[in-house]
Amino acid sequence: MERYHLTEGDSGKHDGRPVIYDGVAIKIYEDEDPSRILVQFTDGITAYNMIKKARIAGKGRINNAVSAMLAGHLERGGVRTPFVRLVSADSQLCTKTDVIPVEMIVRNVIAGSMARRLGIEEGIRPGNTIYDLCYKSNDLGDPLINDHHAVALGLVTYAELQEMYSMTEKINSILLPLFKGIGIDLVDFKVEFGRLPDGSLMLADHITPDNARFWDIRTGERLDKDRFRRDMGKVGDAYREIHSRLLSVSPFFGSDISDIRQMSGH
Ligand code: 5GP
Repeated sequence: MERYHLTEGDSGKHDGRPVIYDGVAIKIYEDEDPSRILVQFTDGITAYNMIKKARIAGKGRINNAVSAMLAGHLERGGVRTPFVRLVSADSQLCTKTDVIPVEMIVRNVIAGSMARRLGIEEGIRPGNTIYDLCYKSNDLGDPLINDHHAVALGLVTYAELQEMYSMTEKINSILLPLFKGIGIDLVDFKVEFGRLPDGSLMLADHITPDNARFWDIRTGERLDKDRFRRDMGKVGDAYREIHSRLLSVSPFFGSDISDIRQMSGH
Protein backbone atom coordinates (compact mmCIF):
# COMPACT_ATOMS: atom_id res chain seq x y z
CA MET A 1 0.00 0.00 0.00
CA GLU A 2 3.02 2.26 0.49
CA ARG A 3 3.07 3.40 -3.12
CA TYR A 4 -0.19 5.30 -2.77
CA HIS A 5 0.77 7.27 0.33
CA LEU A 6 1.36 10.86 -0.60
CA THR A 7 4.57 11.29 1.34
CA GLU A 8 6.17 8.50 -0.68
CA GLY A 9 8.53 9.32 -3.55
CA ASP A 10 9.64 12.37 -5.45
CA SER A 11 7.89 14.23 -8.18
CA GLY A 12 9.09 13.09 -11.58
CA LYS A 13 11.67 15.24 -13.38
CA HIS A 14 11.07 14.58 -17.02
CA ASP A 15 12.87 17.56 -18.55
CA GLY A 16 14.40 16.73 -21.87
CA ARG A 17 11.81 14.16 -22.83
CA PRO A 18 9.73 15.19 -25.84
CA VAL A 19 6.37 16.50 -24.69
CA ILE A 20 3.29 15.12 -26.45
CA TYR A 21 0.69 17.17 -24.56
CA ASP A 22 1.28 20.12 -22.27
CA GLY A 23 -1.98 20.66 -20.41
CA VAL A 24 -2.82 22.50 -17.20
CA ALA A 25 -3.63 19.36 -15.16
CA ILE A 26 -1.71 16.74 -17.13
CA LYS A 27 1.52 16.64 -19.10
CA ILE A 28 2.26 13.72 -21.40
CA TYR A 29 5.78 12.78 -22.42
CA GLU A 30 7.16 10.30 -24.91
CA ASP A 31 8.67 7.14 -23.47
CA GLU A 32 11.66 5.20 -24.88
CA ASP A 33 9.12 2.49 -25.66
CA PRO A 34 6.94 3.89 -28.48
CA SER A 35 3.95 1.88 -27.25
CA ARG A 36 4.01 3.76 -23.92
CA ILE A 37 3.61 7.33 -22.68
CA LEU A 38 4.59 8.95 -19.42
CA VAL A 39 1.68 10.82 -17.81
CA GLN A 40 2.47 13.47 -15.22
CA PHE A 41 -0.33 14.87 -13.07
CA THR A 42 0.29 18.50 -12.11
CA ASP A 43 -1.16 20.73 -9.41
CA GLY A 44 -2.80 22.90 -12.08
CA ILE A 45 -6.58 23.07 -12.22
CA THR A 46 -8.80 24.66 -14.82
CA ALA A 47 -12.51 25.07 -15.45
CA TYR A 48 -14.93 26.57 -17.95
CA ASN A 49 -12.72 25.93 -20.98
CA MET A 50 -9.62 27.50 -19.36
CA ILE A 51 -11.39 30.68 -18.15
CA LYS A 52 -10.57 29.77 -14.54
CA LYS A 53 -7.11 28.52 -13.62
CA ALA A 54 -5.31 27.88 -10.32
CA ARG A 55 -2.89 25.58 -8.50
CA ILE A 56 -3.93 23.21 -5.73
CA ALA A 57 -0.86 22.06 -3.80
CA GLY A 58 -0.50 18.28 -3.85
CA LYS A 59 -3.25 17.65 -6.41
CA GLY A 60 -0.88 16.06 -8.94
CA ARG A 61 0.26 13.42 -6.45
CA ILE A 62 -3.28 12.76 -5.29
CA ASN A 63 -4.58 12.30 -8.83
CA ASN A 64 -1.68 10.02 -9.72
CA ALA A 65 -2.41 7.79 -6.71
CA VAL A 66 -6.22 7.91 -7.10
CA SER A 67 -6.05 7.04 -10.80
CA ALA A 68 -3.63 4.16 -10.09
CA MET A 69 -5.84 2.76 -7.33
CA LEU A 70 -8.93 2.99 -9.53
CA ALA A 71 -7.06 1.36 -12.43
CA GLY A 72 -6.25 -1.53 -10.05
CA HIS A 73 -9.94 -1.97 -9.17
CA LEU A 74 -11.00 -1.76 -12.82
CA GLU A 75 -8.36 -4.28 -13.91
CA ARG A 76 -9.49 -6.69 -11.19
CA GLY A 77 -13.01 -6.30 -12.58
CA GLY A 78 -11.80 -7.17 -16.09
CA VAL A 79 -11.48 -3.70 -17.64
CA ARG A 80 -8.22 -2.99 -19.44
CA THR A 81 -6.88 0.40 -18.44
CA PRO A 82 -3.93 2.34 -19.84
CA PHE A 83 -2.14 2.16 -16.48
CA VAL A 84 1.16 0.24 -16.59
CA ARG A 85 3.03 1.32 -13.45
CA LEU A 86 3.80 4.23 -11.17
CA VAL A 87 7.02 6.01 -12.08
CA SER A 88 7.16 8.72 -9.41
CA ALA A 89 4.83 10.33 -6.88
CA ASP A 90 3.16 12.34 -9.63
CA SER A 91 3.70 10.30 -12.78
CA GLN A 92 2.84 6.94 -14.26
CA LEU A 93 3.67 4.91 -17.34
CA CYS A 94 0.64 4.23 -19.54
CA THR A 95 -0.18 2.44 -22.74
CA LYS A 96 -0.25 4.79 -25.72
CA THR A 97 -3.44 4.83 -27.77
CA ASP A 98 -4.75 6.92 -30.61
CA VAL A 99 -7.31 8.86 -28.58
CA ILE A 100 -10.79 9.24 -30.07
CA PRO A 101 -11.93 12.88 -29.67
CA VAL A 102 -15.20 11.92 -28.01
CA GLU A 103 -15.93 12.29 -24.29
CA MET A 104 -18.39 9.86 -22.81
CA ILE A 105 -20.11 11.09 -19.66
CA VAL A 106 -22.01 8.72 -17.39
CA ARG A 107 -24.64 10.20 -15.09
CA ASN A 108 -26.04 8.24 -12.16
CA VAL A 109 -27.42 11.40 -10.54
CA ILE A 110 -28.39 14.57 -12.36
CA ALA A 111 -25.95 17.42 -11.82
CA GLY A 112 -23.85 19.99 -13.64
CA SER A 113 -24.51 20.74 -17.29
CA MET A 114 -27.45 18.35 -17.58
CA ALA A 115 -29.25 19.98 -14.66
CA ARG A 116 -28.53 23.41 -16.14
CA ARG A 117 -29.46 22.56 -19.72
CA LEU A 118 -32.74 20.87 -18.90
CA GLY A 119 -33.76 22.92 -15.87
CA ILE A 120 -33.69 19.93 -13.52
CA GLU A 121 -32.73 20.20 -9.87
CA GLU A 122 -29.31 18.72 -9.07
CA GLY A 123 -29.45 15.51 -7.05
CA ILE A 124 -32.36 13.82 -8.82
CA ARG A 125 -31.64 10.14 -9.43
CA PRO A 126 -33.08 8.99 -12.76
CA GLY A 127 -34.45 5.48 -13.22
CA ASN A 128 -31.94 4.81 -15.99
CA THR A 129 -28.24 5.51 -16.39
CA ILE A 130 -27.60 8.47 -18.70
CA TYR A 131 -24.78 8.54 -21.24
CA ASP A 132 -23.77 11.80 -22.95
CA LEU A 133 -21.37 12.11 -25.85
CA CYS A 134 -19.36 15.30 -26.33
CA TYR A 135 -17.14 16.23 -29.25
CA LYS A 136 -13.71 17.09 -27.84
CA SER A 137 -13.03 20.50 -29.28
CA ASN A 138 -11.83 23.43 -27.20
CA ASP A 139 -12.79 25.85 -29.99
CA LEU A 140 -16.39 24.63 -29.90
CA GLY A 141 -16.50 24.14 -26.10
CA ASP A 142 -16.87 20.33 -26.21
CA PRO A 143 -20.46 20.35 -27.57
CA LEU A 144 -22.96 17.63 -26.76
CA ILE A 145 -23.44 15.33 -29.78
CA ASN A 146 -25.26 12.08 -30.43
CA ASP A 147 -24.13 8.76 -31.90
CA HIS A 148 -25.07 9.76 -35.44
CA HIS A 149 -23.13 13.03 -35.23
CA ALA A 150 -20.06 11.14 -33.98
CA VAL A 151 -20.25 8.71 -36.90
CA ALA A 152 -21.02 11.45 -39.45
CA LEU A 153 -18.00 13.44 -38.23
CA GLY A 154 -15.86 10.35 -38.87
CA LEU A 155 -14.82 10.14 -35.21
CA VAL A 156 -16.02 6.57 -34.58
CA THR A 157 -17.96 3.73 -36.16
CA TYR A 158 -21.28 2.48 -34.80
CA ALA A 159 -19.52 -0.76 -33.77
CA GLU A 160 -16.91 1.22 -31.82
CA LEU A 161 -19.64 3.25 -30.12
CA GLN A 162 -21.38 0.08 -29.05
CA GLU A 163 -18.14 -1.15 -27.49
CA MET A 164 -17.54 2.21 -25.82
CA TYR A 165 -21.00 2.12 -24.23
CA SER A 166 -20.48 -1.42 -23.03
CA MET A 167 -17.03 -0.66 -21.55
CA THR A 168 -18.38 2.47 -19.87
CA GLU A 169 -21.30 0.53 -18.40
CA LYS A 170 -18.84 -2.00 -17.00
CA ILE A 171 -16.63 0.73 -15.54
CA ASN A 172 -19.68 2.28 -13.88
CA SER A 173 -20.81 -1.09 -12.52
CA ILE A 174 -17.40 -1.57 -10.87
CA LEU A 175 -17.00 1.97 -9.55
CA LEU A 176 -20.53 2.50 -8.16
CA PRO A 177 -20.28 -0.17 -5.42
CA LEU A 178 -16.63 0.64 -4.78
CA PHE A 179 -17.46 4.27 -4.02
CA LYS A 180 -20.64 3.36 -2.14
CA GLY A 181 -18.44 1.24 0.13
CA ILE A 182 -16.42 4.31 1.09
CA GLY A 183 -19.48 6.48 1.64
CA ILE A 184 -19.39 8.25 -1.72
CA ASP A 185 -22.16 8.67 -4.25
CA LEU A 186 -20.60 8.44 -7.72
CA VAL A 187 -22.74 11.12 -9.35
CA ASP A 188 -21.08 11.23 -12.77
CA PHE A 189 -17.75 10.89 -14.54
CA LYS A 190 -16.15 11.39 -17.93
CA VAL A 191 -14.10 8.83 -19.87
CA GLU A 192 -12.31 8.76 -23.20
CA PHE A 193 -11.23 5.83 -25.32
CA GLY A 194 -8.36 5.22 -27.73
CA ARG A 195 -7.41 2.76 -30.43
CA LEU A 196 -4.50 0.36 -30.05
CA PRO A 197 -2.35 -0.45 -33.12
CA ASP A 198 -4.48 -3.56 -33.81
CA GLY A 199 -7.59 -1.35 -33.97
CA SER A 200 -9.08 -2.56 -30.70
CA LEU A 201 -10.39 -0.02 -28.19
CA MET A 202 -9.05 0.70 -24.74
CA LEU A 203 -9.92 3.14 -21.97
CA ALA A 204 -7.62 6.13 -22.52
CA ASP A 205 -8.42 8.14 -19.42
CA HIS A 206 -7.80 8.47 -15.71
CA ILE A 207 -10.61 8.73 -13.23
CA THR A 208 -9.91 11.37 -10.59
CA PRO A 209 -11.86 14.12 -8.79
CA ASP A 210 -10.96 16.30 -11.82
CA ASN A 211 -13.36 14.44 -14.10
CA ALA A 212 -15.91 12.90 -11.76
CA ARG A 213 -18.45 14.10 -9.19
CA PHE A 214 -18.15 12.50 -5.77
CA TRP A 215 -20.78 13.41 -3.15
CA ASP A 216 -20.50 12.27 0.44
CA ILE A 217 -23.50 9.98 1.01
CA ARG A 218 -24.03 11.07 4.62
CA THR A 219 -23.51 14.82 4.39
CA GLY A 220 -23.98 15.53 0.66
CA GLU A 221 -20.65 17.36 0.70
CA ARG A 222 -19.00 17.66 -2.72
CA LEU A 223 -15.55 16.07 -2.84
CA ASP A 224 -14.49 16.92 -6.40
CA LYS A 225 -13.62 19.69 -8.86
CA ASP A 226 -17.00 21.38 -8.38
CA ARG A 227 -15.47 22.90 -5.22
CA PHE A 228 -13.11 24.78 -7.55
CA ARG A 229 -15.64 25.47 -10.32
CA ARG A 230 -18.12 26.92 -7.83
CA ASP A 231 -15.65 28.66 -5.47
CA MET A 232 -16.66 26.44 -2.55
CA GLY A 233 -13.15 26.36 -1.00
CA LYS A 234 -11.29 23.41 0.55
CA VAL A 235 -10.53 21.93 -2.88
CA GLY A 236 -7.34 20.19 -1.72
CA ASP A 237 -9.07 18.80 1.38
CA ALA A 238 -11.78 17.24 -0.81
CA TYR A 239 -9.21 15.57 -3.08
CA ARG A 240 -7.27 14.33 -0.02
CA GLU A 241 -10.47 12.89 1.46
CA ILE A 242 -11.15 10.87 -1.70
CA HIS A 243 -7.55 9.66 -1.70
CA SER A 244 -7.61 8.56 1.93
CA ARG A 245 -10.96 6.77 1.66
CA LEU A 246 -9.80 4.90 -1.46
CA LEU A 247 -6.53 3.99 0.21
CA SER A 248 -8.50 2.14 2.90
CA VAL A 249 -10.02 -0.25 0.33
CA SER A 250 -7.26 -0.49 -2.30
CA PRO A 251 -4.86 -3.41 -1.97
CA PHE A 252 -1.34 -2.62 -3.07
CA PHE A 253 -0.78 -4.43 -6.35
CA GLY A 254 2.98 -4.19 -6.67
CA SER A 255 4.74 -1.98 -9.16
CA ASP A 256 3.18 -3.39 -12.29
CA ILE A 257 -0.43 -3.86 -13.38
CA SER A 258 0.48 -7.11 -15.18
CA ASP A 259 0.17 -8.96 -11.81
CA ILE A 260 -3.52 -8.08 -11.76
CA ARG A 261 -4.01 -8.81 -15.46
CA GLN A 262 -2.64 -12.31 -14.87
CA MET A 263 -4.92 -12.83 -11.88
CA SER A 264 -8.02 -11.61 -13.69
CA GLY A 265 -7.08 -13.48 -16.88
CA HIS A 266 -6.93 -10.67 -19.42
P1 5GP B 1 -20.87 18.30 -16.86
O1 5GP B 1 -21.38 17.91 -18.21
O2 5GP B 1 -21.91 18.28 -15.81
O3 5GP B 1 -20.08 19.57 -16.91
O4 5GP B 1 -19.79 17.19 -16.46
C1 5GP B 1 -20.18 15.86 -16.19
C2 5GP B 1 -18.98 15.10 -15.61
O5 5GP B 1 -17.99 14.93 -16.60
C3 5GP B 1 -18.31 15.83 -14.45
O6 5GP B 1 -17.88 14.87 -13.51
C4 5GP B 1 -17.13 16.52 -15.10
O7 5GP B 1 -16.06 16.64 -14.20
C5 5GP B 1 -16.79 15.57 -16.25
N1 5GP B 1 -16.34 16.30 -17.44
C6 5GP B 1 -17.10 16.73 -18.47
N2 5GP B 1 -16.35 17.35 -19.41
C7 5GP B 1 -15.10 17.30 -18.97
C8 5GP B 1 -13.85 17.78 -19.49
O8 5GP B 1 -13.77 18.36 -20.59
N3 5GP B 1 -12.75 17.57 -18.71
C9 5GP B 1 -12.82 16.95 -17.51
N4 5GP B 1 -11.70 16.81 -16.79
N5 5GP B 1 -13.97 16.46 -17.00
C10 5GP B 1 -15.09 16.64 -17.71
